[in-house]
Amino acid sequence: MAAGKTAQGAAPAAIQSTLSKPSKTAPNDSPKPVPVLSTGDFIDRGPCPLCGSVGDASFETVYDFDVIPVRRCRDCGLVHSARIMSDAGTAKYYQDVFGSEFHKRGQMINADVNMLALKKMLPMREVATFLDVGCGYGFLPWLLKSIGVKPMGVEISRGEAQHARDYLTIDVRTGTLENAGMPTNWFDAAACFEVIEHIPNPVQFLKKLAEHIRPGGYVIIGTDNFESPIVQRMGARYPKWIPHTHVNHFGPETLTETIKRAGLKVESIWSYTPLENSIRSCLPKYRKPIAAKLAWNFSKHIKEEMGRGYPLFWLRSELAKIWSGKITLGKNGKGSMMFAVARPRT
Ligand SMILES: [Zn+2]
Repeated sequence: MAAGKTAQGAAPAAIQSTLSKPSKTAPNDSPKPVPVLSTGDFIDRGPCPLCGSVGDASFETVYDFDVIPVRRCRDCGLVHSARIMSDAGTAKYYQDVFGSEFHKRGQMINADVNMLALKKMLPMREVATFLDVGCGYGFLPWLLKSIGVKPMGVEISRGEAQHARDYLTIDVRTGTLENAGMPTNWFDAAACFEVIEHIPNPVQFLKKLAEHIRPGGYVIIGTDNFESPIVQRMGARYPKWIPHTHVNHFGPETLTETIKRAGLKVESIWSYTPLENSIRSCLPKYRKPIAAKLAWNFSKHIKEEMGRGYPLFWLRSELAKIWSGKITLGKNGKGSMMFAVARPRT
């Protein structure tokens, strides 16, 4: 698509150009120094975050990743990291370290796909106000604003929230859902895209999120589908196993159970497979079995994670909109990214 146009097409040209050219939305995020996150910032997870089961017999190790094994609860099936960051580690990491040019460009692509998905999944004529929790650099709220929706955002990363406010003029509060002071019983829709996998207590988080929607409003959750055929095929090599930040690894069933335990009912589950995942899953290098400790190494990942580039961004961006947002998005539950649309129980 030509520069200056978006799939949504309704935005003023001046703002369109900021989205089309990320280098002009703010100075590029330069590689950050190695974060101060260390193995000492992690604590044992304790009970299953979904059903509360305790004790070693309740869990089986799925992947014995370096420092942070990933385990499955034998009672409810939730796959989750066996160790998580302490509160102090979490604050240090997400507020001050998280964010990079890689993340910014990835979020731009995701915003386009999420927008296409929202239009497919929700009756958008009923959505005039929208809360985006974990809105990152603010690209999805900006797209929503361009079609006349009033968005607000919450973002824990100081740098990303500031970008959303300063460069995209989005009303974003820095903090967490618990301390951001967002209005309750008010939004037509409240969403979290690629957030719930980061949250130590996902049931409590969804309960809190649901407090912000009006009666009859919508809660939308977007996250990876770790039960999808592609993830099963790629095993420990699947690139979204990032057990220090992705601490819950849902499938359609465990996500549905999480939503139910939060007091909501699931209206629909959608999924799609990013083209890049489809390509990767066919490459021999990603199909060869590998020991989990070699597939994901803590210190190597921590050193490199904020300094990665995003090659072929524009090509990947255009293909994502067509492939992810239009071709593969459906209800078969097999895509490697999924969305749940939920509403309050009546
Ligand atoms: Zn469990």
